[in-house]
Amino acid sequence: MNKAARRDGDVDILLGFGSNLGDRRAALAGSLRRLEQVAHLRRVRCSRLYATAPYGVEDQPDFLNMAVRAQCALPADELLRLCKTIEKEFGRRPRERWHAREIDIDILLYGREQINTAVLTVPHPQMHLRRFVLLPAADVAADMVHTGRDADVARLLELCGDAGRVDVYDAAPCPPDSDHQATVARERG
Ligand code: ADP
Ligand code: MG
Repeated sequence: MNKAARRDGDVDILLGFGSNLGDRRAALAGSLRRLEQVAHLRRVRCSRLYATAPYGVEDQPDFLNMAVRAQCALPADELLRLCKTIEKEFGRRPRERWHAREIDIDILLYGREQINTAVLTVPHPQMHLRRFVLLPAADVAADMVHTGRDADVARLLELCGDAGRVDVYDAAPCPPDSDHQATVARERG
C-alpha cells in the first residue's frame, strides 16, 4: 500500500463495521487490526459486537456490527481508500447495494467535518436512521457530535425510530490498545 499523506494533528473518527457472510467475527476483528496498522490509528476503542437483523433486503443472514472510535492522522479520502482496499483483502466481492457482504467499513464521523464528494459523504447519510449503527456507536462515542443534525450520538439514538432487532452478541472483539490503556490510567490518576 502507498505511503499515506498525513494531515496536521489527529482527528477523532467513528467507523461502522458490519459482516454477514463467512467468519463474521474474524472479518471484523481482522479488518480492524489491519486498518489500525495501515492507517496508523491511535487510541482505538471498539464497541461490543451486536447481532442485527438485515436492513433493506431481508432474505439474508444476520449481521454482526460494531463501531470503532479512534484518532486518525489521514485525510478522509485516504482513509476511505484504505477501508475499501481492506474490504477487498478480507474477501468482499462486488454485489448489489443492501445485499450480504463479507465486510463493510463505513466512515460515520470524521471529527466535525462535513464532506460531500463523489465518493464520500460524511457524516454518513444514513447513520441517524439505523439502530444497528447507533447502538454500537453509543458504546464508544455517545458524546460525538453529528454536525449536520446538531446532536450527539446518544441523542440520535433517542430520536431514532428504527425498530430493527439489535442485540448484544459478545464483548468487544479486541482489547483497547496500550495507548488507550495508558490514557485511561492517566485519567484515573
Ligand atoms: P454501503 O456501505 O452504502 O452499503 P458500499 O460499502 O458498497 O455500500 O459503498 C458504496 C460507496 O459508498 C463506496 O464506494 C464509497 O465511495 C461510498 N461512500 C460514500 N460515503 C461513504 C462513507 N461515509 N463511508 C463509506 N463509503 C462511503
Ligand atoms: Mg460501505
